[in-house]
Amino acid sequence: MLEIEMENWYQLDEQDRIIEVSPHFDRFSSENGGPADLSRQVIGRSLWDFVKGDTLKMLLQLTLQRAQQGVVCLKMRCDAPHQLRLLEMLVTPDRRVGFTPLKVEQRLPGPDPKGAIEPITMCAWCNTFETEQGWLPLEQASAFLPLLYDSQREISHGMCPPCEESFDTGTPAHLEEGFRH
Ligand SMILES: [Zn+2]
Repeated sequence: MLEIEMENWYQLDEQDRIIEVSPHFDRFSSENGGPADLSRQVIGRSLWDFVKGDTLKMLLQLTLQRAQQGVVCLKMRCDAPHQLRLLEMLVTPDRRVGFTPLKVEQRLPGPDPKGAIEPITMCAWCNTFETEQGWLPLEQASAFLPLLYDSQREISHGMCPPCEESFDTGTPAHLEEGFRH
């Protein structure tokens, strides 16, 4: 068991069922615009009952897979209609998913500056995402893209420049980046 401080979390079993949540889970939910009895609604049910959209499902599955190798820590945007929120998400190898709010700001009136329609491009070979900071793995890209909260956003599959360059010559070297073994 890893000793990691997480205030808000849910615990998954091997079948992706939510089996336990943190003591202040309901308070966190109601403070963030969710139902005040969320724990009662989710415990015993599959995580996938609450995940809307294939894209979001795919990204969460990828995150859970990565966490088998070691703790995954990523920043994610989790905006609400009137608020911009930046959360830190931690996923442990024993399948506990935690959230810590880092920044919350009132949203300024006006259109979403990132544009609400453009699809996100993911490299189909190395699973990096195209961002304004270049092609980044999920852990870093989630700070720039609405990857883990906007279930409407489509993902188009493409190829990043390093994969493209090495496609003819063999396996791209950066495919093994990030592995600990
Ligand atoms: Zn690539």
